[in-house]
Amino acid sequence: MTRTAVIGAGPCGLAQLHAFEQARQGGVDIGEVVCFEKQSDWGGLWNYTWRTGLDAHGDPVHGSMYRYLWSNGPKECLEFADYSFDEHFGGPIPSFPPREVLYDYIVGRAKKSNVRQFIQFDTAVREISYEADTFSVTVESWENGPGVLRTETFDHVIVATGHFSMPYVPEYPGFESFPGRILHSHDFRDAVEFAGKNLLILGSSYSAEDIALQSLKYGAASITIAYRNAPMGFGWPEGITEVPALRHLEGRTAHFADGTRRDVDAIILCTGYQHHFPFIDPDLRLVTANNLYPAGLYKGVVSTANPKLLYLGMQDQYYTFNMFDAQAFVARDVVLGRLPLPTAEAMADDVDAWLTMYAAVDTVMEQIDFQTAYVRDLMALTDYPAFDLDMVRRHFVTWEHDKDESITGYRDKSFASPCTGTVGPIPSSTWWEELDDSLARFLAR
Ligand code: FAD
Ligand code: NAP
Ligand code: MG
Repeated sequence: MTRTAVIGAGPCGLAQLHAFEQARQGGVDIGEVVCFEKQSDWGGLWNYTWRTGLDAHGDPVHGSMYRYLWSNGPKECLEFADYSFDEHFGGPIPSFPPREVLYDYIVGRAKKSNVRQFIQFDTAVREISYEADTFSVTVESWENGPGVLRTETFDHVIVATGHFSMPYVPEYPGFESFPGRILHSHDFRDAVEFAGKNLLILGSSYSAEDIALQSLKYGAASITIAYRNAPMGFGWPEGITEVPALRHLEGRTAHFADGTRRDVDAIILCTGYQHHFPFIDPDLRLVTANNLYPAGLYKGVVSTANPKLLYLGMQDQYYTFNMFDAQAFVARDVVLGRLPLPTAEAMADDVDAWLTMYAAVDTVMEQIDFQTAYVRDLMALTDYPAFDLDMVRRHFVTWEHDKDESITGYRDKSFASPCTGTVGPIPSSTWWEELDDSLARFLAR
């Protein structure tokens, strides 16, 4: 019997288990599938934890999500093609849900497809190596106590451990003597902590944008965002300002590249994350920056270093859950031999062709088109149910325009489902006014 290991039970790992279970229910022999998840429950980043630093076992906390986090894209852009929002919630809901609502949706499908049976929780993968056609996977399972390792062998390994968990933490002169808190967005949990404070945020991507808005919404006195290359340039509400790069700190005074200065109480480094796989043999390990087409992955999934090793969700993400699904269907079909792989040379050529296309991508709109083309390519390879990909592309374009029009108002818009056509209702309170992010409140809104 063939054995397949899936590492991680976040959205990607769950998509993989769902894909296997679909095939199994269709009468296909899937062999033995085992999923190792280091946390006590599923959902990955969406499974909120208050913890920062180390978990109860002394392992690095995986979670990077924070309280009051709302979807930053329309839910219609990430909808599972085989499990609609209508099906899960029994009717239409607004387009930008808070974290708990999306968590409920992810878990809803995982329950429906009965994939918990595959998962060993509280089990961290410590080492993966390959010899004589077989992977050795060494795990540490908390039920056996700390330090007790167990090694199992597998024919295929699918890595679904995410890549927004290990922070990239730069240092600037004066940090060592700054008389306040300096934290990375990975450790940000509750904006209320910064009420009344003057904040400095470094970065110019989604975390910087959202943590700045959050902090203002929950009462920060002022937020200064220092960009390294280019400002985000949104029409920020009063209280948020973008300035050129931080040069150094003198006490609590931050000095910027344009010669201006600001006194600040706390610093949040929204400086991104690193792909981090300390548990994979360096010869097999994916090494990449956060981008839309990591080199070394055929179809963005199959490791060209060893095609029995597969990775899910390693791209930077406009598309999320439905892209993960399409990847998982491809990975499943590769593992089951239903999708034969071409020669190593042909796989390398295919990767090169995508990298050449990617090199020509410049604007945000071109990035959206590029990832749309990638998802379309994946969809053509498998039987993941069709959804209106052109509609999703149009939604992303509209969403980008909405953000430029109103960075505090874009989450009040509604979009049509690419799966069912259902249009999300306009919520009765605006995102900016709504301080309660609970599922109960959202459904009552
Ligand atoms: P993860 O969700 O990170 O899950 C990986 C899992 O692997 C975790 O459960 C972890 O415990 C487990 N794991 C890791 N290492 C090991 C190990 N060694 N052994 C065993 N298990 C292990 N996407 C959206 O679509 N909309 C949003 O609004 C959105 N907001 C986001 C906000 C933040 C702050 C961040 C950081 C990301 C956000 N994302 C959002 C993107 C997010 O990457 C995806 O939604 C999704 O969570 C990725 O799923 P994943 O399974 O690849 O990774
Ligand atoms: P990211 O998109 O990788 O961006 C990292 C940012 O850090 C870039 O802007 C980069 O600047 C900046 N940076 C790196 N080093 C720096 C330095 N030394 N000084 C100043 N800036 C530096 O990471 P992210 O913003 O954390 O986003 C990660 C993921 O989380 C995304 O998928 C996003 O969608 C998700 N997210 C979602 C929400 C939500 O609202 N639902 C909220 C937060 C995050 P350059 O641009 O100059 O390179
Ligand atoms: Mg940008």
